[in-house]
Amino acid sequence: MIADFEYFAPKTVKKALSLLSQYREKAKIIAGGQSMLIVMKQGLLTPEYLIDIKGIAALEYIKYDDGKGLRIGALTLHRAIEKSPIIQKHFKVLSEMERNLATIQTRNWGTIGGNLCHGDPAGDPAPVFIALKAKLKLASLGGERTVDTEEFFKDYLEVVLEPDEMLTEIQVPTLPPRTGTGYEKLMVMKGDMGIIGTAVSITLGGTDSVCKDARIVLGNAASVPLRVKEAEKVLIGKTINEGLLTEAGDIASREADPPSDVHGSAEYRREMVKVFVKRVARMAVERAKAA
Ligand SMILES: Cc1cc2nc3c(=O)[nH]c(=O)nc-3n(C[C@H](O)[C@H](O)[C@H](O)COP(=O)(O)OP(=O)(O)OC[C@H]3O[C@@H](n4cnc5c(N)ncnc54)[C@H](O)[C@@H]3O)c2cc1C
Repeated sequence: MIADFEYFAPKTVKKALSLLSQYREKAKIIAGGQSMLIVMKQGLLTPEYLIDIKGIAALEYIKYDDGKGLRIGALTLHRAIEKSPIIQKHFKVLSEMERNLATIQTRNWGTIGGNLCHGDPAGDPAPVFIALKAKLKLASLGGERTVDTEEFFKDYLEVVLEPDEMLTEIQVPTLPPRTGTGYEKLMVMKGDMGIIGTAVSITLGGTDSVCKDARIVLGNAASVPLRVKEAEKVLIGKTINEGLLTEAGDIASREADPPSDVHGSAEYRREMVKVFVKRVARMAVERAKAA
């Protein structure tokens, strides 16, 4: 049973922001409702004012520029990201990630912004955006600010948005030359939330195979999407081989702080982190060599 609320459907960002500024903690945004309706039905959130932003057409876009990189509007559907020729050409890892996110029905209605703002550490997009060094543009009536995706997540289902702020855009910088990226999650059935997920980005030197930069990010292995920086250090400055990949996986599994639930114990998840870090980092290295 959903508690009563007053409903607004603004058609502009400015109108949505004025409503947020007016009602603050008493209000909540709803976009596709794929997560929001569940928490409202469970009684975990009982907003007095519901601000439905799905009709703000100006926040639904995918744009790419070789200099500025990729910009995705917060209301862009998962399915649009999966199918976008621009993304398939320049950021294939995002399209691959989306292909295994939920069902086609959910991807056709759920938005990328809603996924990030829900703050679920098991969400698929966040680890990939963190590996890609993406930034998030947050707006309020007072102005705009930009935060690293990595800094956006505070705790389980908690993000750094102020009550009068909304996410408007995701900004992904152009990939440096010789960069390879990958994402995989452990799932029982295609489209399930990941038992764990792993995103990796590797940049190799201009002429050799020495790793110049590495980002390894885990999903559902802590209360927030987790960058495992000690594991990254194992790879940076070295020519990556199987031994180093194993070492990185082992260290990542020690940096993780995974939950235990019906889908798997913390111990099982740690073992899977070892396997997935090694597998996805190997894929990223191969892709960097071919880039
Ligand atoms: C059956 C099912 C399977 C799923 N499987 C997966 C999966 O495998 N992987 C995965 O990652 N996710 C999965 N999800 C989650 C799904 O991807 C998200 O629910 C969806 O993307 C959220 O988008 P939405 O537009 O529906 O957001 P909503 O549900 O409308 O909102 C979610 C939260 O974000 C806030 N919000 C929304 N937009 C903004 C904004 N622009 N600015 C500020 N706050 C905002 C809302 O207030 C709310 O707190 C699944 C969901 C379902 C129902």
